[in-house]
Amino acid sequence: MGLLKGKNVLITGASKGIGKSIAIRCAEEGANIGFTYLSSIEKGKALETELQNLGIKAKGYQSDASNSIAAEKLLNDFITDFGSLDGLVNNAGITKDGLLMRMTEENWDAVINTNLKSVFNLTKSAIKPLMKQKYGSIVNITSVVGLKGNAGQANYAASKAGIIGFTKSVALELGSRNIRSNAVAPGFIETEMTEVLDPKVIEGWKEGIPLKKSGNPADVANAVVFLISELSTYITGQVIQVDGGMLT
Ligand code: NAP
Repeated sequence: MGLLKGKNVLITGASKGIGKSIAIRCAEEGANIGFTYLSSIEKGKALETELQNLGIKAKGYQSDASNSIAAEKLLNDFITDFGSLDGLVNNAGITKDGLLMRMTEENWDAVINTNLKSVFNLTKSAIKPLMKQKYGSIVNITSVVGLKGNAGQANYAASKAGIIGFTKSVALELGSRNIRSNAVAPGFIETEMTEVLDPKVIEGWKEGIPLKKSGNPADVANAVVFLISELSTYITGQVIQVDGGMLT
């Protein structure tokens, strides 16, 4: 307990799933939390209360991560509300699956903008305060799909692979300012995003995972806590897989 005591952390897409778990785990470790959502207003308000009940400062913002102007406003609001930014977690993401032959340009753009452009938007907007502080940890949520590809997810895989290249480039650019940039690549984690999958497909996947089970959002959140905390001050430019050994 207390690994993130007093740190101010901003997380995108935390109304549910992995983002929500990251917000709760960071708050349990003593961080103050700013988080965003897009359309889940009620869930966002409920999370704000849940986090405040943990005794830390918490605020939810309705903000579209794929919109650069909204991202800049979010960062300004966050700094005004919290005073500094110690950890930025780019988690917001969507899927719009389909074989390439049938994939529309609209579904390509939507996934690239929400998953990849959002990471550019938030990180770009965060650079000034981070460089001024000469301190900070950026954690981007990618996927094992970004490392190995996946049939029916060309848009998603491209967005997640793009995040990895971006993460490593930022680590190279900002390392001398004591700003770290890492990615977490979850494997199969049970959330609303994966609820839509065919149970037979899910069983097949579990069979192929060395630990023979799916992961929990908290498994991913624990890796994020580590990367924001002082336990990882000499780690940057890395991709940590949280996948039960799926991609080994
Ligand atoms: P989820 O349950 O569908 O939650 C997605 C979150 O992102 C929601 O809070 C949603 O907010 C938010 N969001 C979507 N578009 C947004 C936008 N334009 N601006 C701001 N917020 C937005 O998904 P999840 O399974 O927790 O996934 C979280 C991250 O982990 C994603 O990046 C995903 O690609 C990655 N990941 C997941 C898995 C898995 O197995 N679940 C595996 C690998 C990687 P609203 O509810 O308001 O729309």
